[in-house]
Amino acid sequence: MSVPARDQESNPFEAMLSRFRVAAEKLGLEDGLFEILSRPDTEITVSIPVQLDSGGYQVFTGYRVQHNRAMGPAKGGIRFAPDVNIDEVRALAAWMTWKCAVVHVPFGGGKGGVICDPSKLSQREIEALTRRYTAALCDFIGPEQDVPAPDIGTNEQIMAWIMDTYSMHHGRTVTSCVTGKPLGLGGSLGRVAATGRGLMTILKVAAERFEIPLNNSKALVQGFGNVGGTAAQLLHEMGIKVVSVSDIHTAVYNENGLDIPALLEHTKATRSLVGAPNCDEVPRESQLELPCDFLIPAATENQINSKNAGRIQAKLIIEGANGPTTDNADRILEERGIHCVPDILANAGGVTVSYFEWVQDRLGYFWSEDLVNERQDEIMIRAFGEVADMAEKNNTNLRIGAYMLGIERVAHYTRLRGLYA
Ligand code: NAD
Repeated sequence: MSVPARDQESNPFEAMLSRFRVAAEKLGLEDGLFEILSRPDTEITVSIPVQLDSGGYQVFTGYRVQHNRAMGPAKGGIRFAPDVNIDEVRALAAWMTWKCAVVHVPFGGGKGGVICDPSKLSQREIEALTRRYTAALCDFIGPEQDVPAPDIGTNEQIMAWIMDTYSMHHGRTVTSCVTGKPLGLGGSLGRVAATGRGLMTILKVAAERFEIPLNNSKALVQGFGNVGGTAAQLLHEMGIKVVSVSDIHTAVYNENGLDIPALLEHTKATRSLVGAPNCDEVPRESQLELPCDFLIPAATENQINSKNAGRIQAKLIIEGANGPTTDNADRILEERGIHCVPDILANAGGVTVSYFEWVQDRLGYFWSEDLVNERQDEIMIRAFGEVADMAEKNNTNLRIGAYMLGIERVAHYTRLRGLYA
């Protein structure tokens, strides 16, 4: 597939493809499967007219990409952000394919996005946008086709509107058409914290494998939303000093450890870390270079790149965001002996509990939070072991090991299904 003229390092789909090529070559993947798996199955672009509170109209552009459905319905979040673009959605959809295969849940990969700035829209406008986007996709999504979930700029209220709109179109309540819904509307206990919790499970097993002590360790988190905020809170509860966190507005630092619950309160009240108590504001651009043992990028793509990878001081990176590290940065980090647990493994706690939510909705029987957490841990720990073994056996890093495991599984099921002609 041709990649449009964005520079290679900043194009997430090209970043996905370059790792895919390396892993496919190591696996000896046949040419035909290489062609099939390197392209998205389906891409949908929709125009979304919305009546604004001012009375005027604005037409937004939305996407949904289904990368691969060999293992089951497509699965992946919906992003509402001003910089959404088709290459990003394609990359995010493909990462979902490999991620679902790495944790071995019966889904393919999908992703959606709408180019908009939710901070500049009222709740009513966001609801209208969500419902019209869902209506436009109604024939393409569904429990057995493609199951959306939250991502940057979307939340459980938006998932409830998606479920309601889909249900109205089908004349019955279909809770399993989307995950990340509120409790009582088909939501699962443990889903909101699942991605951050999964990061902690992975941090512990990876620290043990690479012999990095947790005692007296320091962590740094980029992004303070669902994933970063939960991760920071859990690190704080584990007794690891979180010395810096950041959001889109600023980064804050305290070498003795931040008061994370106070920062979460402040952010809830003001929607920003600006003016947060008991810390210094530091430039957001150099936040990732501050001294720490563990670095959790949990914001957006390409944050660790060839410009800053040489100055990262962490011993272990656990990728909360999707695609936070560029291919060039991977090489620099590897040369410097910095371990990185890749997104398609580290942040898979979200899709794992989304899978549980889908299962519970289809059964109409809901599990306790302890059961959700226990089953999530079991899957994540097993996946880490399988990825680490694959990497070791093939003398490669964890990212390529994870791609190899994911691609091998999707290729296997594609061969078993055969090609419908
Ligand atoms: P969110 O909208 O809840 O939070 C995003 C946070 O990142 C906000 O605090 C925002 O201010 C901050 N941010 C954005 N750009 C930034 C920048 N350049 N520097 C510092 N901070 C910045 O989104 P989320 O759901 O937490 O998702 C974050 C990342 O995790 C995304 O890459 C997403 O794809 C990935 N992810 C999310 C889930 C999930 O369950 N929500 C699951 C897997 C992966």
